[in-house]
Amino acid sequence: MAQAEEKEENHVLLVAFSSQGHINPMLRLGKRLAAKGIHVTLATTEIARHRMLKSSGAGPADLVTGIELLFYSDGLSLDYDRKTNLDVYMDSLGKHGPSNLSSLIKEHYPSPKKLLCIVTNPFVPWVSDVAAEYNIPCAMLWIQPCALYAIYYRCFNKLSAFPTLTDPDMVVELPGLPSMEEEDLPSFALPNNPFGSFPKLFSEVFQGMEKFKWVLGNSFYELEKHVIDSMCELYPIRPIGPLVPPTLLGQDQELENASVDMWKSDETCIEWLTQQPPSSVIYVSFGSIVVLPAKQMEAIATALKNVKRPFLWVVKPPEFPTPDGAGQLPSRFLEETKDQGQVVRWSPQTRVLSHPAVACFITHCGWNSLLETICSGIPLIAYPQWTDQPTNAKLIVDVFKIGVRIKKEVDGNISSEVIEKCIEEVMVGPVAEQLRKNAMALKAEGRKAVAAGGSSDENIRLFVEEISGNSS
Ligand code: UDP
Repeated sequence: MAQAEEKEENHVLLVAFSSQGHINPMLRLGKRLAAKGIHVTLATTEIARHRMLKSSGAGPADLVTGIELLFYSDGLSLDYDRKTNLDVYMDSLGKHGPSNLSSLIKEHYPSPKKLLCIVTNPFVPWVSDVAAEYNIPCAMLWIQPCALYAIYYRCFNKLSAFPTLTDPDMVVELPGLPSMEEEDLPSFALPNNPFGSFPKLFSEVFQGMEKFKWVLGNSFYELEKHVIDSMCELYPIRPIGPLVPPTLLGQDQELENASVDMWKSDETCIEWLTQQPPSSVIYVSFGSIVVLPAKQMEAIATALKNVKRPFLWVVKPPEFPTPDGAGQLPSRFLEETKDQGQVVRWSPQTRVLSHPAVACFITHCGWNSLLETICSGIPLIAYPQWTDQPTNAKLIVDVFKIGVRIKKEVDGNISSEVIEKCIEEVMVGPVAEQLRKNAMALKAEGRKAVAAGGSSDENIRLFVEEISGNSS
């Protein structure tokens, strides 16, 4: 058979929302499928290509080997402020995405229905309709914890009681999960949330799950077994993670890394880490989207100064700065701490987390960051902001038992004293010791899950067998 035809017949198309936290797990899934003999292409929007080019100067083709990258337009110009105008962005993506993706498929695959499967994620739910147009089976990669999948499924299908405008403080009880109060629930499941189109989008996704023949989860069975089991009778989710770089899984030889940085990472921090004592550095990062208000930046800065421990803080300058100083360091902080810590705009995070000098991670609790930390075996200090992050913080503290949470004050702010207390708690003493032990145990479980014959590896094998039509 000619090579082009063989490629077309043994091919999976991944379609990702164009954010760092969505593209990375998709690419890593792509690498795992490729390792099982599948040809993989990833499609996302032009804005991702624009950021990749800006970050590295290299073309996307040079950034990831073995996976072809394709791009389509979301209908907006490249310099449009998508972050501030999220609703306009999601609206335009929903309006222009389907036809643009459909044209891309027609252009690249002369016989689209030969594709084994299209895998997408919940932020671009219309992809399942494009797949149906061509008669291609569709799978969802759920990129948050399986716990969130269970919560949203039950919430949007009205299978359990959730807070309402008349009873906003009710405690939510769900199978396989601890009791959850308002501060533990994901923002899209709250009755009066200000997140525009997202709850509507999630509600449509979860009421139409039959469009997805498979739901794959970026998690592992041993991490979330109770909640995964609780979904078996409803709409099962198959964990195939943790989708983190192979170096964090002790798999350097078998799989290559697959991630593209949308911001240029500052490698000098690795040299700096190497000069620090083992288990001494506090790593601080809030991911690719969160921009902290000036007051919260100040509280963190004060706490770091006061604890007098080495720190590495990622402060990604806001793409569209605001006059209130959100996301910016207090003046003089760099000068005052030049012998204590380092501030970078973007770090090579997975290398940082696995560096022996790093002791703990103050994080916004993005799921990719959490999985990367779990696979590095270090404890966390949770400072969640929105979407799944509050629930992820609850899991860290009460289910995985690998961290503590910075509690907000009544006015929504945080005090530097509370942060200092959390830092000391995870750095020294019996709590710190227990958290480290738990973190190391989960790291070992994660490695086992993705190793040959492990629970996630088996789930990938089964998925490949099913999409290839080889299952009995
Ligand atoms: N990341 C990175 N360098 C940084 C901060 C983050 O490489 O300085 C990566 C991190 O390793 C993770 C992703 O960006 O893979 C962030 O995803 P996450 O789900 O944690 O948060 P989000 O950015 O989606 O809020």
